[in-house]
Amino acid sequence: MANIKVMDEILSNKIAAGEVVEKCVSVVKELVENSIDAKSSEIKIELIDSGTIEIKVIDNGIGMDNDDAKLAFQRHATSKLYDEDDLYRIDTLGFRGEALPSIASVSEIILKTSTGGVGSLIHFKGGKLIKCEKCDARKGTSITVKNLFYNTPARLKHLSSLNTELSNIVDYINRIALSYPNIKFTLSNNNRILLNTPGDDNLLKVINSIYGIDVTKNMLDISNFNNDYEINGYISKPVVNRANRSHVITLVNGRVVRNNEINKTIIESYHTYMPETKFPIVVLKIDVDSSLIDVNIHPTKMDIKFSNINELKTLIRNTIINRLNSINLIPTIETPKPISYEEVSIKSNYVQETIDFAPSKGESTYSLIKSELEENISDTSVINEDLALEEKIEKKQDTIPELYIAGYAFGTYIICQNDLGLYLIDQHAAKERINYEKTSYMLSNPNKQNISMLFPLTIELPLNEFIIIKENIDVLNNMYFEISEFGMNSFVVKSHPIWLPSGHEEEAIRKIFDLVITMKDNFTLEKFNDRVAMTMACKMSIKANDNLSNEEMEELIKDLRKCNNPYTCPHGRPTIINFTKYELEKMFKRVMN
Ligand code: ZN
Ligand code: ZN
Repeated sequence: MANIKVMDEILSNKIAAGEVVEKCVSVVKELVENSIDAKSSEIKIELIDSGTIEIKVIDNGIGMDNDDAKLAFQRHATSKLYDEDDLYRIDTLGFRGEALPSIASVSEIILKTSTGGVGSLIHFKGGKLIKCEKCDARKGTSITVKNLFYNTPARLKHLSSLNTELSNIVDYINRIALSYPNIKFTLSNNNRILLNTPGDDNLLKVINSIYGIDVTKNMLDISNFNNDYEINGYISKPVVNRANRSHVITLVNGRVVRNNEINKTIIESYHTYMPETKFPIVVLKIDVDSSLIDVNIHPTKMDIKFSNINELKTLIRNTIINRLNSINLIPTIETPKPISYEEVSIKSNYVQETIDFAPSKGESTYSLIKSELEENISDTSVINEDLALEEKIEKKQDTIPELYIAGYAFGTYIICQNDLGLYLIDQHAAKERINYEKTSYMLSNPNKQNISMLFPLTIELPLNEFIIIKENIDVLNNMYFEISEFGMNSFVVKSHPIWLPSGHEEEAIRKIFDLVITMKDNFTLEKFNDRVAMTMACKMSIKANDNLSNEEMEELIKDLRKCNNPYTCPHGRPTIINFTKYELEKMFKRVMN
């Protein structure tokens, strides 16, 4: 009988393992969170072959005595009481107390732990206890998980490639390190250190450990509050961006959580500062009374709901936009540094994604590789630079500086100079920015003035589109178009608002109709106006090869300087770039660095 019971238990643990343990990262997660619960100030994660061969987590926490250690391998052995704080540990909560036995059932696991006195060693293989004895151990716990899923081949097959398993783990450890800047995390794979945080409670240093110094130098601190919420953290200058949105990280009361609306708000705050296919790096801490949040407990998701979310969104948006507007964002062109052999060898098998430092067009692949390298090297030397980083965070208010026109290239770029260096202005991008801000202003403050068309314009549409426009005709009338139905499936436009680009009226009106039609399902006036402003701005703007007179160039720079964001066109491309005098002197070897 006893035997059967044991078999049952092994089986049910294996079944539970299917729910709890899916990937190497689920094991890492469980072990690391146990280490955090044990009040560790240092947690080391050592992997062999992305964790598929071995996962070892070593901490300096409170450890377990012999009884607790044995208990940890029994199902539902919840040794901890949950307090409110545990509600944030939602990604594993619910499986607590089941995880260790489940992991033990599908691997070989060795636990060494001590509360300071005599330690315990427990060894399980495939769910069977092999050894349980006293041992020497320093205070804390180390758990080694070997050959995960060796006895469940079907599941073993489901493990992703080594690179994917590793990148999931790196991603998780990065996030947890950002949540706990006070804990020193070290992550290595096959003895190669991938992350090493200082654990001195400095968030910026954690960011530095993860992203490297080039990114860290381009982070801006933010901090603000309203009645309910306090926010602070770091946002990247638009010049540093990523190809996906996974680098926008939010922490609520110190825990990484996810809320799509908040993420969207953060990304949208960068609207027109960077191309729509690019995303910023943001670590935003939100502090709030826990009665104003609702944590959704789900084993695989971390989701959270906020009361007064619109106030929070406004706070975030205004804070980010004000911060971006508070500094000079003119990208400076730098000469690439040569790469050493040593750096190339560190490049290793793990490359997550292409790093894109705008202005990407001007940048050589060479320097892209360099940034990628720097990003992936998280060795201690970077940390030891002890950056006095806060001082490097810019505080000054600046805009387009005083410039003197020095020339004109390709009928496109205005060449300017001042004491600090050379500047190139893209005349189309600059004009587009100016027109965009003017048109946006006119759209949100509609002006009754309109222009009668010499020949009223008739526009015929397919029936489905005709219906949509008819339903939204108010939107157009509020913009001070004079539009009415005209026979079957047609409209006649008799007058139009003054901002419509002259000479392109019909094209512009058709474009606006298209925007109404494409936005039909989630129409918001704000978005619509923005799209209209972007489209009109491009139409109205001088093109490349439209030669400008000196006066027109002066005028353009003057108007650009008046913009809220003079640095990018509405599509996020730069309007102006800078070669500092120093960089030029370096290139001509007038100075050595
Ligand atoms: Zn354009
Ligand atoms: Zn543009």
